[in-house]
Amino acid sequence: MQIAALIVAAGRGTRAGGALPKQWQDLRGQTVLARSVAAFAEHTQITAVVLHPDDHDLWDAAGIAADLVVDGGATRDASVRAGLEALAGRGVDLVLIHDAARPLVSASVIRDVIAALEDHQGAAPALAVTDALWTGVAGTVTGTQSRDGLFRAQTPQGFHFDAILAAHQSATGPFADDVAAARAAGLDVAIVPGAEENLKITGPDDLARAGQLMGHGMDIRLGNGYDVHRFGPGDHVWLCGVQVPHDRSLQGHSDADVGMHAVTDAIYGALGMGDIGQHFPPSDPQWKGAASHIFLEHAVALATERGFSISNVDCTLICEFPKIGPHQSAMKAAIAQIMGLEADRISVKATTSERLGFTGRGEGIASIATATLVKS
Ligand code: MG
Repeated sequence: MQIAALIVAAGRGTRAGGALPKQWQDLRGQTVLARSVAAFAEHTQITAVVLHPDDHDLWDAAGIAADLVVDGGATRDASVRAGLEALAGRGVDLVLIHDAARPLVSASVIRDVIAALEDHQGAAPALAVTDALWTGVAGTVTGTQSRDGLFRAQTPQGFHFDAILAAHQSATGPFADDVAAARAAGLDVAIVPGAEENLKITGPDDLARAGQLMGHGMDIRLGNGYDVHRFGPGDHVWLCGVQVPHDRSLQGHSDADVGMHAVTDAIYGALGMGDIGQHFPPSDPQWKGAASHIFLEHAVALATERGFSISNVDCTLICEFPKIGPHQSAMKAAIAQIMGLEADRISVKATTSERLGFTGRGEGIASIATATLVKS
């Protein structure tokens, strides 16, 4: 028994948001299309993918394994027909036609479709409608409708290969789906149980929901940072982006903003991406005297690129002098502005060390910080 998967990925739908059609968007590290193709790998012997003719570069870059890649046509019917015709002559007994936009199709749905094809010319998953159905006009309910016998159709829609090829070649659409084409040709189609998680990605909410259904839920990262700079001659210190008058200055290769360095390292730490010294080596003269917002902005950009938002930052400055209290809200505002966050997500606080140790003796300032990063 030769079973083929025919993955239809020729649509241009960009309702899911972003510049790319939905099948090329990222779903937890792989494209939607790659996940749809992979779902069939264990169940079929041949995989054919119908692509939009403009998408070959995307295909080449994606590294997805398929036996056949076929250019689609102007309509879904034409694309399916092109795929079926490319599979003709390869000894295919059964074909499972699947929308690339349903990446979470389960093994049990695929197996049920294949099993039902023992007794039927076609079989497809569907869910009975359970919500009440209304008619409505201009935002007002005008009537109710019985939901008895109504189903929400899904894919893969499976068929005996020769029968569905003949159906697509002889019928004139447009058809809502391949079951409609099959029925127009007189084929019987069994309904097998569909699954809520076999959703079709249409809008941005669907992409987010698909990500959640994959069972990872939220990706929450916590990072910490610690930094120390020693006092030297001078008349001010930079702390959390604020210039504070003092009878000494902090020494360091950059502006020695010990608080901002700890916050920056907390973000790098949450990402598992090293520390400031690694990204901005002190041996590199271009960072001499650098304003520390460059470092913090870099760490925030790395987090954003990886899909994380920064949920909160908590920074503690440890020193006897200067007094931090009068500058606390300015520091919160400065960090918030650099990070592009609301000020209530930033905490800056201070403690002395009871005159103990190097901070107690006024030899320098230490800072510790924590950052929480979230990807949903
Ligand atoms: Mg430092």
